[in-house]
Amino acid sequence: MLIAVNNENIRILPQKGKRGFCPYCGNEVLAVCGEINVWHWRHDVTSNCDLWKEHETEWHRKWKDKFPEAWREFIITKNGEKHIADIRTDSGLIVEFQNSSISSETIRVREFFYGKMIWMINADYFKDNFSIRSLVKTRLRENEFLYKGYFSYNKTDEKSIKEFEDREREIERDIKALEKRMDWFSSKKESFEGHLENIEKSINYIVNRDRIYSDFREFYSENIDLVQQCQLEMDKLDKAITQLSRQIDQVNGLSNSKTPGYEDLKIVDFNLVSAKSYAKCKLIKKDTLNTFFPEVIDVKSESEFRWYSNQANKYLLLIDLGENIKELTQRTQDISQEKKDLEVKNIHSINALRKDLQKWLEKQTKENEDEIELLDLKIDNLQSIAIKLPIAKEKRLREMEEENLLLEQELNEDQKKKEIEIKKGCKGKYLYDWKHRRKSWDYAERPLLLDFGPHIFKVEPDGILIKMSIEDFIEWIKNH
Ligand SMILES: [Zn+2]
Repeated sequence: MLIAVNNENIRILPQKGKRGFCPYCGNEVLAVCGEINVWHWRHDVTSNCDLWKEHETEWHRKWKDKFPEAWREFIITKNGEKHIADIRTDSGLIVEFQNSSISSETIRVREFFYGKMIWMINADYFKDNFSIRSLVKTRLRENEFLYKGYFSYNKTDEKSIKEFEDREREIERDIKALEKRMDWFSSKKESFEGHLENIEKSINYIVNRDRIYSDFREFYSENIDLVQQCQLEMDKLDKAITQLSRQIDQVNGLSNSKTPGYEDLKIVDFNLVSAKSYAKCKLIKKDTLNTFFPEVIDVKSESEFRWYSNQANKYLLLIDLGENIKELTQRTQDISQEKKDLEVKNIHSINALRKDLQKWLEKQTKENEDEIELLDLKIDNLQSIAIKLPIAKEKRLREMEEENLLLEQELNEDQKKKEIEIKKGCKGKYLYDWKHRRKSWDYAERPLLLDFGPHIFKVEPDGILIKMSIEDFIEWIKNH
């Protein structure tokens, strides 16, 4: 303690060799006046002085020594209870210097007893577990981060440029697709023109081939059926004529009789003639054949014919085929005429078919031409858009740069303003981390100050410390 009382109960300061009495317990105290420590009084015997007082250290004494003598070790009596306040100012503010940790209950009890008070804690014991950082720097960093984020969020980004590039690619793709379509229509048009040039070949194809997989699959004309029927019938007639001419050739190929008067008759084998044709036949006895008067026999009946045919080796059979030839020739002529008629009909049908086909092919050519023209127009349109795109993109790029520059400038100014505010508002304020924090101090309701030696920090809510010099602190207490 720094204050004792004399016999007259007057407060006295320690002096070498002097003795006094403890103003609290009344026990005798001895002055300790060394060269290093603050001069103080020491109880002669360990007595039950104020139990609220911890063992007094040099730290306590040095602090108390900084205040006016009258404020030091002030005894307060309240409701029959009496305690020594480390410092009591004229305005009644109590300052308690606390070196060791105390329980939250003790804190509560003392705060209740002293009323208006502040705590000064010796932080020397936990300073290694304590880290502080400048609130200004922290807030400036946060502020910078905030504005950077704000800029990158609000700046016009390259998305709008990408749109142009996407559009360019899209147009290029569209043009290619249109050109491909145009090629397709052009080749279709060309083949239709080719069909028109070679119309006879086309007609031939349509009449004689399956059209399903050809360019003509959509062409229809009733004349196709007519031509096909006509040709089918003409084929049949051709076959019949061939057949007849073969028969005529066969007859003409037979040898004529050399017997005078029968030269028109043909020599045939018995097995080539039916008995029913007996009336057309003559027989010449073979052994008279080369005589002056060959024996010519008329056949009078079928049975007679059969009778002779059984002795075929003795007789040469002659037959009159003149009627047959006449008949075959007549039939050939009739069929040829019929074919000629059909040919005329066929030419008519083909002419009609040609007209139909010509019309159809011209229509197809025209339709394809129209498509090509339309596609050409579309391609032209796209190309004229594509030409303008790079210019628009360049313009947008410049605008974007200007916008961003403006935004950046604006934000920079704003950020600077904020920085000034931060520097002003957070000056002398610090944030702290306290490992193995003494939880009991969380229950203190009165102001709490931490003594870190050269500096004092006032603990504020929200984990903020306010830095104070010792002089400022003392000034603050005196003006409280
Ligand atoms: Zn005492």
